[in-house]
Amino acid sequence: MVGLAKGCLRDLRRRDFVAGAALIDGHWVSNDQTDIVADPATGEEIALVARCGAADMTLAIAAAERSFGEWRELLPERRGAILKAWASLMLAHSEELAILVTSEQGKPLAEARHEIAYGAGFLQWFSAEAERTYGETIPSHKAGSLLQVRMQPVGVAAAITPWNFPVAMVTRKAGAALAAGCPIIVKPAPETPLSALALARLAEEAGIPRGVFQVLVGDPIELSVPLLRDARVRALSFTGSTEVGRLLLEGCAHTVKKVSLELGGHAPFIVFEDVDLDKAVSGAMAAKFATSGQDCLAANRIYVQRSIHSAFVEAFAARIAKLKVGHGLEAATDIGPMTKRTVADKCRAHIDDAAAKGARVVVSERDQSLGQNFVLPTLLSGVTDEMRIVREETFGPVAAVLPFDSEEEVLARANASEMGLAAYVYTDGLRRALRVSEKIEFGMVGVNTASFTGPPIPFGGWKQSGLGREGSRHGIQEYMELKYVCFGDLAA
Ligand code: NAD
Repeated sequence: MVGLAKGCLRDLRRRDFVAGAALIDGHWVSNDQTDIVADPATGEEIALVARCGAADMTLAIAAAERSFGEWRELLPERRGAILKAWASLMLAHSEELAILVTSEQGKPLAEARHEIAYGAGFLQWFSAEAERTYGETIPSHKAGSLLQVRMQPVGVAAAITPWNFPVAMVTRKAGAALAAGCPIIVKPAPETPLSALALARLAEEAGIPRGVFQVLVGDPIELSVPLLRDARVRALSFTGSTEVGRLLLEGCAHTVKKVSLELGGHAPFIVFEDVDLDKAVSGAMAAKFATSGQDCLAANRIYVQRSIHSAFVEAFAARIAKLKVGHGLEAATDIGPMTKRTVADKCRAHIDDAAAKGARVVVSERDQSLGQNFVLPTLLSGVTDEMRIVREETFGPVAAVLPFDSEEEVLARANASEMGLAAYVYTDGLRRALRVSEKIEFGMVGVNTASFTGPPIPFGGWKQSGLGREGSRHGIQEYMELKYVCFGDLAA
């Protein structure tokens, strides 16, 4: 396994994807100070990236501000065409981008390829939305007046993006901002900067003007302080942990920015006794183990009605035992490494806590021969509400199954969380599906499906899972201001 990622990156046709310079004001900026990007499977260095500082960020904000006027004045159709060209370039370089994603993030190559298509989809979606930022005319409550509402771009936007979807979280934010007419500055996660820098290369080729899309890599606090303090930055979009989301929300208070946050998940996955067991197990496999469990949509609490609980656990365990763990670039890998050691440690702590409190470790996985970033897929049954795994998001391939008796009880337990991103409900009963989907306190609900994301849907959470929406016709609103204009004295 050693050398796999490094070797693949050495063979990339697009050497500029791993050149490591930041894109600021149309210039590729190198720096004596560099940070290492490592393969999370092996810990091996795969690239160096220029470390930007606060002064670089201030230059980027000024460049974005300068570019705003010209970008917003482009006809929406023209902005859309540029976004479409960017998406086409992504698809044309899909394989190389996927190798980059797997090399720095760790996910299996098939999932990385899917992420490139998913990520390009946001650019395509928003390329069309650029032309649909309609305002409205309000029937007037004043004689001789015309009341108009216009949608206008908010100004310079910033994006702080996570390491679990290093391509799609950039394009979901940038697609919306650029379509709205806003320049955007991206600060990717330090673990996965190569994907964002490669996207910046393609953005330039697609014709995105200087200053309109910039990427800076460096210390998260040093780079975010100027973004938060500078009044010229009018919108901030963040995806990551709830803890950091809270800090950023506080930081944005000083300059009262528009803030959109996509934070932690902790999804309940509810299986009623009337379902087809195989379909429910397949759904749980997808909802738990995609992205090796490092997904804010991941099923963290799998509630199964008591009459089918044992059969479900048995079938689920058999499927989990077949998952192949390894380097994401190896063929047939289902589960890659955790991108960060801290995430792997949290998974192990959740397993230990559950076992100490009486849970049964059905698929026991403490073999660490693959290295400390790997967590072998684990199933915990007999889980109770007191265990950490039921109270905190795990963000890894550890599945917790809990029995329940009644609909009312499971709804109360599913809703007893400060998180409210995604929930899953499996039932054959139409009336039950309607009832539960209405009463569950989550921003997104999959009924008899574990696959519901994509550019047209409003992605976002309730409670402490976030603010605002990404994707869909709602996503562009995060980068727009509403202006009301009253034309008075119109009577002839
Ligand atoms: P994180 O919130 O620390 O990192 C996400 C982004 O925020 C990265 O770009 C990071 O550099 C930046 N960041 C970190 N601290 C910052 C600060 N003080 N100021 C400004 N930016 C800052 O997430 P993490 O520690 O890497 O992961 C921890 C947990 O967060 C995960 O286990 C998971 O629960 C959650 N998470 C959720 C998502 C999601 O898709 N919603 C993505 C990543 C992580």
